[in-house]
Amino acid sequence: MNIAIVGTGLVGRVLALNLLKDGHNLTLFDKHGKDGVKAAGFTAAGMLAPFAELETAESIIFDLGVRSIALWPDLLKKVGVYDGFQLAGTIITSHPQDLNELEHFIATLKNKVKEAKEIDFINKEELKELEPELNNYNKSFYIKNEGQVDSQRFISFSTNYLQNHPNVIWKDFTEVDKIEEGSVYIENKKEEFDWVFDSRGLGAKEHFKDLRGVRGEVLWLESNDINITRPTRLLHPRYKIYIVPRQKGCEGIDLEYCSDCKITQSKGSIRYIVGATEIESEDTSPISVRSSLELLSAVFTVHPSFGEARVVNTETNCRPAFKDNLPRIENSHKLTRINGLYRHGYLLAPAIVEKALKEGIYK
Ligand SMILES: Cc1cc2nc3c(=O)[nH]c(=O)nc-3n(C[C@H](O)[C@H](O)[C@H](O)COP(=O)(O)OP(=O)(O)OC[C@H]3O[C@@H](n4cnc5c(N)ncnc54)[C@H](O)[C@@H]3O)c2cc1C
Repeated sequence: MNIAIVGTGLVGRVLALNLLKDGHNLTLFDKHGKDGVKAAGFTAAGMLAPFAELETAESIIFDLGVRSIALWPDLLKKVGVYDGFQLAGTIITSHPQDLNELEHFIATLKNKVKEAKEIDFINKEELKELEPELNNYNKSFYIKNEGQVDSQRFISFSTNYLQNHPNVIWKDFTEVDKIEEGSVYIENKKEEFDWVFDSRGLGAKEHFKDLRGVRGEVLWLESNDINITRPTRLLHPRYKIYIVPRQKGCEGIDLEYCSDCKITQSKGSIRYIVGATEIESEDTSPISVRSSLELLSAVFTVHPSFGEARVVNTETNCRPAFKDNLPRIENSHKLTRINGLYRHGYLLAPAIVEKALKEGIYK
């Protein structure tokens, strides 16, 4: 079939990889460049945290998240990412004075899904085994079967894979004004396809009147003196942060974006993505002083050596979300729309795409 995918951010790329498996011809449209750096899917930390997300999410997010974790390794292998997936669990911790935050957090997870019953506190020695450099925390808990996708690596490698694929025509810097069943409109000109997928994220407001953006800011820090190996969350009454280690930083990443980049990673250093703010706003301007101060002071309390880490980059973007913060699939004749993945894009995309294809084009 001749298929159009409008929006080559996270969802668009996962769709493309699934459809190419079945031999379809794809035309990809994006209003920005192929490097994907303007998509929320590039900004994301890529955490795969079905349990931890239950603090605020519904159990359907957990079920889809578990399914996505099973699907990610094949998708990553397909585009040549062999070292961008980790399933070594998450550490959740708090300062001793905020212990009730930790207790409330764990109780919330246990109330939502039966699988969370096994999660329990770990003591100082157990934490030392897992993350020796976090051993000043008295109480923490460890959630097995959580992890991360290196989102920048996925975007970069999928760019290379898709732009070289013989079944793909990629029309970048091409804004689609309107999508209808089997057709897309660019500057009032109609192009027809056997099926169209709308994966424009926040750019789909023309159709979804209740779609909103939730601003998120992250910092990229690098240090030679810190070795935290798995995603770590600090619970705090005012600002909750996560620290996501990217062992390889930019190694092997080659985007057009890289030619203007001023990041030169020092030998042997580890990159940490620290985030993320969550602000009801569609402003994508650079990170504010307030957010920088909050994220940096919180990360500094997790490991004092962050004081000497280098801030090599900051990223801001908006998560596409509906009022209920749940993802939405709309299937009709020759048209599928997927949106509202909010803060769970990496956690949900493979499973949501699988569901949308089954209920739509392959029904
Ligand atoms: C700071 C931050 C941290 C995050 N951390 C995580 C995390 O740890 N784990 C997790 O699971 N999720 C995380 N997310 C969420 C995740 O990034 C999003 O849910 C996901 O990227 C949404 O995917 P999408 O494809 O719908 O949108 P996007 O990735 O934004 O892609 C949309 C694409 O559509 C294109 N487009 C828009 N309008 C048009 C148009 N009219 N014509 C053509 N193209 C168009 C855009 O240029 C873009 O490329 C985070 C998000 C942010 C902002």
